[in-house]
Amino acid sequence: MSSTINNYAARFSRLRLPKVCVAVVGSDPAELIEKAEGLVRENPFLEFRLDYLKNPASAAPRIKKFFETHMDATVIATCRRSPNGGKFKGSLASQLDVLLKSAAAGCQIVDIELESAQALKPGDLDKLRGKASLLLSSHDFKHTRKIDETFAKMKPFAADFYKLVTTATSLHDNVLMMKFLQENHDRYSLIGLCMGEQGIISRVLGLRAGSVFTFASAGKGEETGPGQITAQELRSIYRIDSVDAATRVYGVAGDPIEHSLSPVMMNAAFRREAVNAVYVGLHAKKLDDLIACIRDIPLSGISVTMPYKEEILSKLDKTDPLSAQIGACNTVIRGQDGRLFGFNTDVAGVVGPLEQQVGLSGSRVLVLGAGGAAKAAVFGAKARGAEVFILNRTPADAQKLAKKAHAKAIKRTDLAKLDFDVIVNATPVGMGGNGQTILNEKELKAKYIFDLVYNPLETKLLSMAKGKGLQPISGLEMFVQQGAQQFEIWTGKPAPVSEMRMVVMRELEQRANLNGKSKAAK
Ligand code: NAP
Repeated sequence: MSSTINNYAARFSRLRLPKVCVAVVGSDPAELIEKAEGLVRENPFLEFRLDYLKNPASAAPRIKKFFETHMDATVIATCRRSPNGGKFKGSLASQLDVLLKSAAAGCQIVDIELESAQALKPGDLDKLRGKASLLLSSHDFKHTRKIDETFAKMKPFAADFYKLVTTATSLHDNVLMMKFLQENHDRYSLIGLCMGEQGIISRVLGLRAGSVFTFASAGKGEETGPGQITAQELRSIYRIDSVDAATRVYGVAGDPIEHSLSPVMMNAAFRREAVNAVYVGLHAKKLDDLIACIRDIPLSGISVTMPYKEEILSKLDKTDPLSAQIGACNTVIRGQDGRLFGFNTDVAGVVGPLEQQVGLSGSRVLVLGAGGAAKAAVFGAKARGAEVFILNRTPADAQKLAKKAHAKAIKRTDLAKLDFDVIVNATPVGMGGNGQTILNEKELKAKYIFDLVYNPLETKLLSMAKGKGLQPISGLEMFVQQGAQQFEIWTGKPAPVSEMRMVVMRELEQRANLNGKSKAAK
């Protein structure tokens, strides 16, 4: 073990490094380098995962050639041993040999695990340090705990970079990692992040807390760690290159959150309006976990989604009259004094698109469903003077809602003798393009059919409405309008509604294409 502490002598200066390092894998050196060639123009900072190769020792000549034409590239050579979470089954001596050869071939940084460093002779580490900058890494594949203790074991090794990676099992684990980075980044060159789906936010927010860079995958399916996101997503959605200590953090909190389109839409809005803010997905398995993070991250505002829209009310310091009346809140803003204020923008999301087409006052509106979205539709339409009818699979819930909102609960058999100006589908029926509809064609007796389901963009219900010559309104409009109002509450600026609509449509189309392709491949 070397006793020289060389914290300030990062020979490969952290200031010269890009913020994103893209991990590259291949089954043989030719494939690895071919992928690197394709990536390097947009991603000049790469990690060659040599442990993914069948014979890592054979990669050096190709790496050397790569550097002949890509002199500006920066590459980390990693050959993680399998006991330490990598794929390399060779001995410690072989690992050292691979890293030495890679450094001689041009890799400016070599990654060595704490466990290997502890087992190597001090002279061996010095040999490595003589050829490249040393990145000492530690991985916890189960938990986020004892970060300071682990770092205490790493510090005696004279490394240029210390990489600490843990696994998040709660949102709050990200806070622990960020606190560690904030407390130590001015004295050491640190890379810190949490793996796992719950740790995704640390891949964005770690940089804000002082991590020198973060890791990304080259593409979907090429992740080298759980929860790793693609470089393209980090740049285009999260604008990682402009995240700094002053960046405000917003997010969408719920369970599940994986497929939410809100990050795509809200980050596009922040970009368009030049707001220094980033919007992340907050996968909260428990509401208390989320609340514990609000102050510590700190979050400036959150969009609340299923299943917390009602439960969150009891955690807020104040709510607007609409949230209190409906009993649900989808928007939280954190004041400078830390107090939490709740709003409901779902109502504007339903009423806004309708009012662009129909004068709601005096019109007859049928709402299908009695859950959260239905409540927003019922109270919103009532407040605009509409006569509101509710039909729900569980009649008791329709009756309860009708009583609270002074609307009328009806039975399905009543549909034969009734007609409406607007029918709003506030159930999930038709989601995912399964071809199901909540009502049959004969029952669609209205001028406007508003399907709150927005994936797919054109549901079976909407295509049926079109076929009958009725006016369809897509759930995309609600999604965009509720998000636009959130943006305005948080920033005080008018929301770039067209941009928001455009990015969500594009994302939905891309997802539909990907789905189509994967179905075709099966
Ligand atoms: P929720 O609170 O769980 O309520 C779901 C409602 O749908 C309940 O009334 C339920 O009836 C009914 N339902 C569920 N499955 C049904 C089925 N197979 N057949 C008939 N009725 C069924 O959900 P939510 O938050 O109101 O959301 C409902 C849908 O609205 C979501 O799936 C989403 O697609 C859409 N939404 C869209 C936006 C947007 O921005 N466009 C925003 C929020 C929601 P029971 O009472 O019988 O269980």
